[in-house]
Amino acid sequence: MTSHPASEQLFDRARAVSPGGVNSPVRAFRAVGGTPIFMRSAAGAWLTDVDDNRYVDLVGSWGPMLLGHAHPTVLAAVAEAVVLGTSFGTPSEPEVLLAEEIVGRTSVESVRMVSSGTEATMSAIRLARGFTGRNKIVKFAGCYHGHVDALLAEAGSGVVTLGLPETPGVPAHVTADTIVLPYNDRAAVDAAFEAYGSEIACLITEAAPGNMGVVPPEPGFNRFLAETCARNGALFISDEVMTGFRVTRSGHWGLDGDPEGWQPDLVTFGKVMGGGFPAAAFGGRTDVMQQLAPVGPVYQAGTLSGNPIATTAGLATLRLADAEAYGRLDEASTRLQSLVTDALSAAGVAHTLQNVGNMFSVFWGTGGAPVTDFAGAQSQEAWRYKPFFHAMLDAGVYLPPSAYECWFVSAAHDAEALSRIAEALPAAARAAAQAHPES
Ligand code: PLP
Repeated sequence: MTSHPASEQLFDRARAVSPGGVNSPVRAFRAVGGTPIFMRSAAGAWLTDVDDNRYVDLVGSWGPMLLGHAHPTVLAAVAEAVVLGTSFGTPSEPEVLLAEEIVGRTSVESVRMVSSGTEATMSAIRLARGFTGRNKIVKFAGCYHGHVDALLAEAGSGVVTLGLPETPGVPAHVTADTIVLPYNDRAAVDAAFEAYGSEIACLITEAAPGNMGVVPPEPGFNRFLAETCARNGALFISDEVMTGFRVTRSGHWGLDGDPEGWQPDLVTFGKVMGGGFPAAAFGGRTDVMQQLAPVGPVYQAGTLSGNPIATTAGLATLRLADAEAYGRLDEASTRLQSLVTDALSAAGVAHTLQNVGNMFSVFWGTGGAPVTDFAGAQSQEAWRYKPFFHAMLDAGVYLPPSAYECWFVSAAHDAEALSRIAEALPAAARAAAQAHPES
């Protein structure tokens, strides 16, 4: 059983000086109750909080920590870079090396660095609108692409967790050009393009959604989207902020586009490519990317874009993300997925565990039926997660504080980390079995 007096004290102080005491809403534990845990340090698969409790981490900073925390090679690269200066406001070598690494691993021919996934998707959409001279954009319910005004309609985990119906502050005219469709629904996509084909600038989708829980694209769905966009003169934007460099060395494209022989027009990246620092990017076809300033007329800029420390950390991370690292990560994730499903089944908890490569999540009370869209994800018994989450936390396992989030494993999740989780699971599964909707 863990106790958290120092976290509680910090949370009180944080609430006095910042809204909700957090700098990103899902960290606030609103969906699971209790006090957010303030972490002091992290190494490998483990987090240590300000009360000296240790946890196996299954959040991984929401995706970036592919190799685990504080990888010594990444730390050494950052330490070497920091003493040379932390930001120049000029071009520098690390950003070129990182861009070459990204172009070498993925479908994109040209890439622009930014500082967050939100900035990447916002800029990609502006570029698609500028390139096509059209205004409408298509997105899927349950897909989250950052807190871009035009993309917050039915935006998955963070918004669902807080039960926010819509977001005040986004004028209706800003979302008037956003068409929201059910995921995996080809007929809905066909109907939207039939009605508005000549007005649609782009369709943006998570390459494989992880923000309504993990909902895999049905076989051929991304290819269908790419072809539909091409036929209608719209751009296909694949959001790989979460999946990029995680599910394969090239991201989700390595599981469908590359073997099937098609390419998205634009791709957004973040998380893993920053190695735990604020670095993100968007890239794609050269003719489209050439529309960006300073070559073309579409303006996009950033004071800290391509920051030398962030790009150094990202480059060190990607260079370490080789076949061996992905092998270890995939193996740990597969093992964990069976531990979870075995424990839940043993406790009689109906559930569906879904994965896209090493990313996975649990849908509660679904009885094994596949979840294919946001409506399906929302019909789960999310209230079973709260006691499960707290039982795991008490036993030293840090899970995402929302039932709608993906569980992130790293290449550092070794036998010791997995056995801590295996020990914690049976009691947590029993707590989920005994849960009540009102509890
Ligand atoms: N796109 C996807 C698929 C994401 O999962 C996220 C964040 O979780 C974003 C975009 C936004 O990235 P950021 O939080 O860095 O702005």
